[in-house]
Amino acid sequence: MFQTSYIELSESAVKNNIEFIHNFLGKGVTFSSVVKGNAYGHGIENYCPIAYKYGIRHFSVFSAGEALKVTNALDNQKFTLMIMGQIDNEELSWAIETGVEFYVFEQDRLNAAISIAKRLGKKARIHVELETGMNRTGFPKKDLATTLKKIESETAYLDVKGVCSHFAGAENIANYKRIKDQFKLFKQYKSKLNTAPWLQAKKHLASSAATIRYPKSQMDLVRIGILQFGFFPTQETFVHYTTKYNSSKNPLQPILSWKTKVMDTKTVKAGEFVGYGTSYFTNNVTKIALVPVGYSHGYSRSLSNQGKVLINGARFDVIGTVNMSMLAVDVTLSESTIKKGDEVVLIGTQGDQELSVSSFSDFSQLINYELLTRLPQDISRTIT
Ligand SMILES: *Cc1c(COP(=O)(O)O)cnc(C)c1O
Repeated sequence: MFQTSYIELSESAVKNNIEFIHNFLGKGVTFSSVVKGNAYGHGIENYCPIAYKYGIRHFSVFSAGEALKVTNALDNQKFTLMIMGQIDNEELSWAIETGVEFYVFEQDRLNAAISIAKRLGKKARIHVELETGMNRTGFPKKDLATTLKKIESETAYLDVKGVCSHFAGAENIANYKRIKDQFKLFKQYKSKLNTAPWLQAKKHLASSAATIRYPKSQMDLVRIGILQFGFFPTQETFVHYTTKYNSSKNPLQPILSWKTKVMDTKTVKAGEFVGYGTSYFTNNVTKIALVPVGYSHGYSRSLSNQGKVLINGARFDVIGTVNMSMLAVDVTLSESTIKKGDEVVLIGTQGDQELSVSSFSDFSQLINYELLTRLPQDISRTIT
């Protein structure tokens, strides 16, 4: 194995989630599967082929490096790939040559794309990102007219595939006004652009939260990340969904489980400290199990004396500080004999017990997104 822990991905959960999202989307809306951050920790190589199997033909990533990984993972398949963030001017020739689409949100990239496209004799497939109020990337209003003129004059070398923007936090009702204003502005742009010949382009701005919370914002394409992995972006989005659609059941299923094995067990006398320093003191004789996972493996140190794990179908507390490569668990109250080699579940189910990713966020201040993407790339991922 040569790994101290392992990740399992449930194929039936992928199928369930993709079907749910497809059914939820308006007619003709393209589902782009966002797989940045190593497919939210699920593994680009592992996740993309299953998503493809269940009908995904459009993938979005942040960077050219991630795009290359998706290309390798889906060797010889037909699909569309879109880079929403960083691509160096040097990487542009690869993207243009291979037909990978990319966002354009500033002049330098636009100029580079045009000149490389001319050199290669191949059109660059671009998505024009507009600033609507997030104040991140996107052409500001004042540059729009000149940018559009430039694009129009170079359509021999530019294939405009999309016009897009991004909401500044549709998963949180506190941002309601800002989101509504962004949506309004984007719609204004849309009707203005109606006259341009490149309006054939897809209009897109919704991610998971907006897709659920503001279905009208789905437009031609949605960029779905977290939902496909079995999580609502926030508890609030989930409550909105269950209320609006009168559903008491969570339609999504988590895909990922994270497991390891007990490395050693030990009985500690009463009146001793366990691990580094003095953060855990045994009031009674305590049986501990050592687990070979620590913060270097993505198990946050803020879960010291807070985390929970499952062993033999029961829930136990992490005690003391989470170390770089291991942690200790108090198994004194176990009804079974816990021994070296027993399965330890860090995320997932065992028997009738479950440790959800969101239960971590309650303890560690990590949102689902961050916890998942911290899972190291080199942990083995298998499909179950
Ligand atoms: C990450 C990302 C998404 C997907 O967000 P989710 O909340 O995971 O659905 C969509 N669009 C852009 C531009 C992103 O960076």
